[in-house]
Amino acid sequence: MVRTRIAPSPTGKDVHVGSVSTALMNYAWAKKNDGQFIIRIEDTDQTRLVPGGEKRMLETLEAIGLHADESPLVGGPYAPYRQSERLAVYKKHAEELVQKRKAYYCICKPERLDEMRKKQQAVKQIPKYDRYCYFHQEEIKNKIVKGEKYVIRLFIPNKKIIFNDLIRGQIEVEGSNLDDQIILKSDGYPTYHLGVVVDDYLMKITHVIRGEEWLPSTPKHIVLYEAFGWSLPLFAHVSLLRNPDKSKLSKRRNPVWTSEYLEKGILPEALLNYLSLMGWSHPEGKEIFSLEEYVKIFDIKDVQKTAPVFDPVKLEWMNGEYLRKLKVQSLKLKVLGFIGKNYPEGIVEKTIPLVQERMKKLADYLPLCEFFFQAPATWQVDLSGKKDFFNRVVGVLEKVNTWKATAIGEAMQKLAKELNIKNSQFFMDLRVAITGKRISPPLNESMEILRKEECLERVKKLT
Ligand code: GLU
Repeated sequence: MVRTRIAPSPTGKDVHVGSVSTALMNYAWAKKNDGQFIIRIEDTDQTRLVPGGEKRMLETLEAIGLHADESPLVGGPYAPYRQSERLAVYKKHAEELVQKRKAYYCICKPERLDEMRKKQQAVKQIPKYDRYCYFHQEEIKNKIVKGEKYVIRLFIPNKKIIFNDLIRGQIEVEGSNLDDQIILKSDGYPTYHLGVVVDDYLMKITHVIRGEEWLPSTPKHIVLYEAFGWSLPLFAHVSLLRNPDKSKLSKRRNPVWTSEYLEKGILPEALLNYLSLMGWSHPEGKEIFSLEEYVKIFDIKDVQKTAPVFDPVKLEWMNGEYLRKLKVQSLKLKVLGFIGKNYPEGIVEKTIPLVQERMKKLADYLPLCEFFFQAPATWQVDLSGKKDFFNRVVGVLEKVNTWKATAIGEAMQKLAKELNIKNSQFFMDLRVAITGKRISPPLNESMEILRKEECLERVKKLT
């Protein structure tokens, strides 16, 4: 039975697009193998928690369709799925390692550790704890009984640590280069290393698919698995997303939070499709495919090591492709959901065919179509000297009886000819009069939707 998980820490606004890309692989791998996808919240670093972050993260993952089989929201056989509710489990396991002499109590004060680090750095040694407490455990235990504060450190053996990564191959690290990692803090909380290993084991996770930033931690995890006598899950560390200029994705350049893309009107299905191409490609070179298809053909062994480029411009292009494929009715509903129900549904429906080709995201709708709901109050071109011209336009428009795009267009072209004004000039002035803007959806069709009285009113304003 394949069981995968994501183990996010709620330390940001909601969920980072990079985490969604990793979540997607975990989800696909579980579903492809009829397994389970789990969400576990790693909230043991209480100093970094962002209030409301967990709720928004879980809601966003739900909104984009990455439903978990087990999570703090839906529960499951290995609940609780929030680490801050599992402190007793970690303590018990840390104590078990102390019993086995695979870990030890340490009561060294920060001042001593600081001094030690400085001395080691001065002689160019890797800063490492000197194991004073390991060699004096009985004495330390006595002090702890009397109330001394302590941490528990993992004893890292002096040997080669070897493990296999499904994406990166065999990895070897010298244990002697690693510090005896703290696994239980003095406040009773586990560090990431203990929490992640205990939970992945107890929750029967078979594949740990996570970002490459956790690769340096994995040797410590291997030591922990060995210390407990547990068998290892399979590991796969995926490369981090990069900006098009190859720099690390950071919020200074582009939005990194998933909600920010959804708030612009990127469709969840387009976002998932785009993110599925991060580090993986469709065997037939296809760019647009459904989540269902992805789940069927995804294989961890096909994930590339090279850093994938996350390009918001390409994402918008792809989203535009998704919007164009929608039926008018369904795009209308999405647009209404996005702009709010105060806009008249009938008008929105009529305008959709005029702008569907031009929209890349739902947020593009209103800037293109605002003039259907509100007469312009400003005009992008100065029309003040054109009163006579607009008087003539009013005269002709008043006589158009069947208010249809073709009839409007014909009448206007005829007038342009009569006045000897170039079509481009004529329709630009009329467009700005009606819409306020130099660029708009097709004008005659727009005027038909706006209705005769409204168009006349807008043009008369300029006479
Ligand atoms: N809590 C880690 C994070 O915030 C999880 C790393 C892992 O998947 O092991 O991403």
